[in-house]
Amino acid sequence: MALIVQKYGGTSVANTERIRNVARRVAQYREQGDQVVVVVSAMSGVTDRLIGLAKEITALPDEREMDMLLSTGEQQTIALTAIALHALGQKAVSFTGAQAGIVTDGTHTKARIQDITPDEVHRALDAGNVVIVAGFQGATEDGQITTLGRGGSDLSAIALAAALKADLCQIYTDVDGVYTADPRLVPKARKIAEISYDEMLEMAGAGSKVMQLRSVEFAKKFNVVFEVRSSLNDNPGTIVKEESASMEDVVVRGVSLDKNQAKVTVWGLPDVPGRAASIFNALSQSAINVDMIVQNASHAGGNPATDLTFTVDKPDLLKAGKVLEGLQAQLGFREVTSDEKIGKLSIVGVGMRSHSGVAARMFTTLASEGVNIGLISTSEIKISVVIDLAQGEQAMQALHKAFLE
Ligand code: ASP
Ligand code: MG
Repeated sequence: MALIVQKYGGTSVANTERIRNVARRVAQYREQGDQVVVVVSAMSGVTDRLIGLAKEITALPDEREMDMLLSTGEQQTIALTAIALHALGQKAVSFTGAQAGIVTDGTHTKARIQDITPDEVHRALDAGNVVIVAGFQGATEDGQITTLGRGGSDLSAIALAAALKADLCQIYTDVDGVYTADPRLVPKARKIAEISYDEMLEMAGAGSKVMQLRSVEFAKKFNVVFEVRSSLNDNPGTIVKEESASMEDVVVRGVSLDKNQAKVTVWGLPDVPGRAASIFNALSQSAINVDMIVQNASHAGGNPATDLTFTVDKPDLLKAGKVLEGLQAQLGFREVTSDEKIGKLSIVGVGMRSHSGVAARMFTTLASEGVNIGLISTSEIKISVVIDLAQGEQAMQALHKAFLE
């Protein structure tokens, strides 16, 4: 008998037929004698619709009330899933995050899990129930409802698996697992059998949004092995776990393209200490996430100056422009330009640590496709380049062919 945590995302519970399908899968595990904890998201579209309603009333709704509102999405799904299991003759009980013992800090709309005391979950399991827990939500110690940030049901599942010391954690979604590239863009993309936490994090950071980033960080920290698989078939998925020696045999695990970044350049910034600090402090105070940063010193035409280029998430571009405008007089730079038509193309793999010539091969491949490279950044297991968005898919296919076919 195993204790299994299964998480079903919004598309897997999109309607009552899909919820019945989830119940049937859960019932199969029960019939083998396993104990099952099910974590569910809101039915797809529900969270966005609730946010839309609040924004019809005001642009900046109160965050405590947003948590009160958004947590209702998952509460619909837990009850419907329990009802679907009852209809199959299975004992099942639904719990809110708070009832499941998920305690968070008080940062409404992006709370952090502080502790999980799943005593009630254990009791209900021992009484023969399937336990269905609302994902994405918890409560502070004094009972205020909180949510864990968009996509937070993944985190609920991983954290519960850790707290319950589950034997197995399965993340059910609408794709068969993690692929070497987005199969919609690269027809020859393959499902990856096993991937390390670090590769998964770099792939997610590089735009392959299979799972919430925080949930993978949490899994790495608490060594929770999990499987990403489809709720629409019985194919085995992708196992995500700590790196093993054989993983280094593969140089590149995957290729990804992030179309959601924009490039900002601050021209003619005086080359003296503190200028970059002022810029990035101001951006961070406005909660603007900066990814790649490149600076180039140029001493042309008198005073030493630098051109500073960085990327931000596309939706933050306007805000970033405003922040920089406000700093121009104080910092004395010449002008700011931006470019939204970029793509960030990355190759990821732990094998890069022990293989040489990977960057050379990447750049040669791009050159032979006539793709110009704007920015470059690297980590131990990733190389990213910024290129023209119009060439993004072609370049991605070429890299996939060079490293993975
Ligand atoms: N329903 C929430 C969202 O859409 C949480 C989740 O789906 O994981 O972000
Ligand atoms: Mg989701």
